Amino acid sequence: MTMPFIDLAAQQARIRGRLDSAIARVLDEGAYIMGPEVKQFEEQLGAFCGAKHTLSCANGTDALSLALMALGVKAGDAILVPSFTFAATAEVVPFIGATPVFVDVLPDTFNMDVESFKRAIAHAKAEGLNPKAVIPVDLFGLAADFDAIIPVARENGIAVIDDAAQGFGAGYHGRTVGSIGDITTTSFFPAKPLGCYGDGGAIFTEDDELAALIDSYRIHGKGSHKYDNERIGMNSRLDTLQAAILIEKLAIFPDEIEERQNVARRYAEGLKGRYETPIVPEGLTSTWAQYTIKTKSEAERAEVQEKAKAAGIPTAIYYPIPLHAQTAFRSYPRDPDGLPVSDDLAKRVISLPMHPYLGAQVQEKVIEAVV
Ligand SMILES: *Cc1c(COP(=O)(O)O)cnc(C)c1O
Repeated sequence: MTMPFIDLAAQQARIRGRLDSAIARVLDEGAYIMGPEVKQFEEQLGAFCGAKHTLSCANGTDALSLALMALGVKAGDAILVPSFTFAATAEVVPFIGATPVFVDVLPDTFNMDVESFKRAIAHAKAEGLNPKAVIPVDLFGLAADFDAIIPVARENGIAVIDDAAQGFGAGYHGRTVGSIGDITTTSFFPAKPLGCYGDGGAIFTEDDELAALIDSYRIHGKGSHKYDNERIGMNSRLDTLQAAILIEKLAIFPDEIEERQNVARRYAEGLKGRYETPIVPEGLTSTWAQYTIKTKSEAERAEVQEKAKAAGIPTAIYYPIPLHAQTAFRSYPRDPDGLPVSDDLAKRVISLPMHPYLGAQVQEKVIEAVV
């Protein structure tokens, strides 16, 4: 028996007819770049999450770069990032000439620890850097603790960029992730909760000026038109084909988020007492980009991996090495007290198959294999 870690085929089967017509329509129209579906998708996406401005782009990494560019980030600026995340969150920072400063995460939510954030701000200042922005990540689908992070950011004149590549669609005290930070970014990489059939991304903001800058930077620093270049920009657009596909996927996204809650509930029930299962703080809902459990030790994790493999069940480790320990990032500053939680999680976490089409019977086999 083999099963997919994320079952994109089941999702495709559900909407295949609508996808085929959407793709055929783009081919008939022939507007492959910035066609009408791009605008339509941006409007629907903005309405879904309640953001004032929604700008699509080529991928979630570019979305972060465009956010930094719009904020005017430059050499000498410190950008505070969690260490326990995907490399893209931190990678964009040196790429633009600024310095990432690594912050630890909380052991229960895996998201940014505000106390470590405060220490990292002080450390960045002591190093002669100018703390300019923080990028809390909504790891595994759960929004970061913005109620704790935003006031600290405000006191220090630091902009908040919510990296919602995994948490787009998540609930945060009655709101949907998208309008909480100064800028929110997301990714439509196929395996993300809302994914397309290639690369794609989007940026959200409530700020008119930032939105205008992002719109310019994503199309070669355009002014009033594409051949009027006001600033050094980049080429980062969402393909019309991907927008047409995303319109169909967004239509079923609320239902899929519901289904993900059912899968998470069944895991929590089945694994209770055996492993530490993920927690969702009061007032929040996760999109469950990953269902990540904590084993007691690295050795126990290896056993879980083996048992699952023997039963034909795929597992994954996000993330085996925290960013501050990665070759590419080792030399950058970090919370001077160290990042013990990120170091520890990297040894003990393991993610189980998670997608909206994981039925109760199949899921029972996953649970049986690992308990
Ligand atoms: C996937 C991901 C990104 C980057 O998205 P791409 O579309 O692959 O460039 C950024 N941040 C996080 C947390 C991610 O999971």
